[in-house]
Amino acid sequence: MTATRIEGKEVAGDLKARVGQAAAALKAAHGLTVGLGVILVGDDPASQVYVRNKGIAAREAGLHAAEIRLPETASEAEVLAAVRRMNDDPAIHGFLVQFPTPPQVRQSAVIDAIDPAKDVDGLTATNAGLLVSAREGLVSCTPAGALMMIKRVRADLAGLDAVVIGRSILVGRPMAQLLLNESCTVTTAHSKTRDLPALCRRADILVAAIGKPAFVRGDWIKPGATVIDVGINRIDAGEGKTRLVGDVAYDEAAAVAGAITPVPGGVGLMTVACLLRNAVIAACRQNALPVPEGL
Ligand code: NAP
Repeated sequence: MTATRIEGKEVAGDLKARVGQAAAALKAAHGLTVGLGVILVGDDPASQVYVRNKGIAAREAGLHAAEIRLPETASEAEVLAAVRRMNDDPAIHGFLVQFPTPPQVRQSAVIDAIDPAKDVDGLTATNAGLLVSAREGLVSCTPAGALMMIKRVRADLAGLDAVVIGRSILVGRPMAQLLLNESCTVTTAHSKTRDLPALCRRADILVAAIGKPAFVRGDWIKPGATVIDVGINRIDAGEGKTRLVGDVAYDEAAAVAGAITPVPGGVGLMTVACLLRNAVIAACRQNALPVPEGL
C-alpha cells in the first residue's frame, strides 16, 4: 500500500482562504479589523522565523498584526507587563507568547497572565478546561490543525482506536482530548509507556508529537492507518547542511499507512492557519458576533 499524502499546503490553503473571507466580511459588515499579536522574548533564530511567518500570514489574510519584542535579558515582570498590554489593547483580539522564553521567565506565569478570551494558542487553564469539558473555547493550533488533516481523509472518527505519542500541554494532551471529543478510543503514550510499537500497531489513527527524528518505524504502523507526524526535527544532512524531518520514518510508514502527513509540508503549515482562525473566532466572540460558517 502507498499512503495518500495529506498535503498541509492544500488543507492550510483552504483554511487560510476561508479565514481571509471571514476577516473581509467582518470588516465590511461591522467595521471590525481582526487583530493578532505576538510577543517575542529574546533572539532565538527559529522563534524569529516563526514570528515573522505568523505576521506575514496574518497580513495576507487581512488581519492587523502587532508585535512586542523584548530582549533576552527581559525580566518575568517585563514579559507579564507586555502580556497585560496585549490583554488591554482593544485592537488585539488574540495574541500568543512565542515559547520557549528565557529561563528567568516562567512559562506557567506567562500563560496564567493571558486573558483566556485572547488566548489563541489555547494554553490557559481556562481553555484547556473548556476542551476537556467539550465546551466552546480556543483550541491549541497544532492539534486543531492535525485534526483537520485527519478529517480530510476520514469523515467519521467515531469508534476508531487513536494513539497519541506525547503529552505536552501544547500538542499531545489537547490532541488526545480532541480525538476523544470525536468519539475515538484514545491512548496517550509518553516516555514511560511500555511496548510502544505494539500499542501503535493497534492504532487506526497515530499521532506522533515526540521531537525525535524518525522515531516511529514502518513496522509500528497498522496497515491502512492515518499517520499524523507533528514532529519537527532539524538533522545533519552532510556538507554543513541541515534538513527537517518528522518523528516518523516517512518512507517506511508511507508503505504501510493509508494516509500520512509529510514533514516539512504537513502539520506545520496548519498551525499558522489555525492561529489566524482562532484570532477571527476570538474577535467574533468578543464582539458578540456569530463565528462565520466554514471556520
Ligand atoms: P515536548 O514538550 O518535548 O513533548 C514531547 C513528548 O514526547 C513528551 O510527552 C515525552 O514524554 C514524549 N516522548 C519523549 N521521548 C519519548 C519516547 N522515547 N517514547 C515515547 N514518548 C516520548 O514536545 P512538544 O512541544 O509536544 O513537540 C513535539 C514535537 O512536535 C517537536 O518535534 C516539536 O518541534 C513539534 N511541534 C511541531 C509543531 C508544528 O507546528 N508542527 C508545533 C509544536 C511542536 P514525557 O512526557 O514522558 O517526557
